[in-house]
Amino acid sequence: MAKMRKKSDLPSKICLACQRPFIWRKKWERDWEGVKYCSDKCRGIGSAGAR
Ligand SMILES: [Zn+2]
Repeated sequence: MAKMRKKSDLPSKICLACQRPFIWRKKWERDWEGVKYCSDKCRGIGSAGAR
């Protein structure tokens, strides 16, 4: 059998704003550790909702 490489092998996290899982994206490769939201929209919600 040949080597199997899963496409779903990428890391994932739970968005702090919408509580949904999201998968690693190329644009986050340099700061994956610091990524907490699935999108800019959720990042806005997350940072604005702390009050
Ligand atoms: Zn989100």
